[in-house]
Amino acid sequence: MRFIIFGPPGAGKGTYASRLGSKLKIPKISTGDMFREAIKQDTDLGKRVAQFVNKGELVPDKVAIEILEERISKPDSENGFILDGYPRTIAEAKALDQSPTMDAIIRLIVPEWVIIERLSNRRTCRNCGAIYNVKYLKPKKEGVCDRCGGELYQREDDKPKVIRERLRVYEAQTRALIDYYKGKVPFVDIECRSVDVPPETIVKKIQRKLQKMSLIK
Ligand code: AMP
Repeated sequence: MRFIIFGPPGAGKGTYASRLGSKLKIPKISTGDMFREAIKQDTDLGKRVAQFVNKGELVPDKVAIEILEERISKPDSENGFILDGYPRTIAEAKALDQSPTMDAIIRLIVPEWVIIERLSNRRTCRNCGAIYNVKYLKPKKEGVCDRCGGELYQREDDKPKVIRERLRVYEAQTRALIDYYKGKVPFVDIECRSVDVPPETIVKKIQRKLQKMSLIK
């Protein structure tokens, strides 16, 4: 069960991948989460990537590849994983080809207005990384994570100026990646044309499609 989840920033990738991962008992691996954690802990890696992440620019391939390879070699990835936010470039995709092939690419198709609405209202837990939305996926108590009690904050790159830069970068990179994987790995297309569809509905849709393709039980 080796999946990649693809979709513009704010498509809901993180939320769906976490939920799907729990159901399938495989980890969601998000390079973005790993970079944010490193920045928070102010590690060497954090110091190297902060300038890129905070501006919405891609971290250099070499750094992203190294961190991903280290992560997928951990024992919890033995039965598979869901990659969220990786690969972002052809060089990253090629590095991933060194390991067994992916089983499917889950591709979220989301109109731009839905993305803007989602991202500008998104809040992230400073402690555990859980994702909320001040309009559509509210925590029980404002500003506090339901899961761990951590403080919810707005990511630097979820602010409007940076959102636009991230969408621009995403558009520029995605076309090439889709071409790269066409014919190599099956695509599972999931349409999300509204802001307030409960995440569980989308996750079920993904599960049904993966089952139909005999990729999961
Ligand atoms: P995300 O949470 O996936 O939107 O990622 C947040 C930020 O982390 C991105 O805007 C990039 O700066 C960086 N990043 C995450 N994953 C990658 C990757 N695979 N390659 C390069 N940069 C990445």
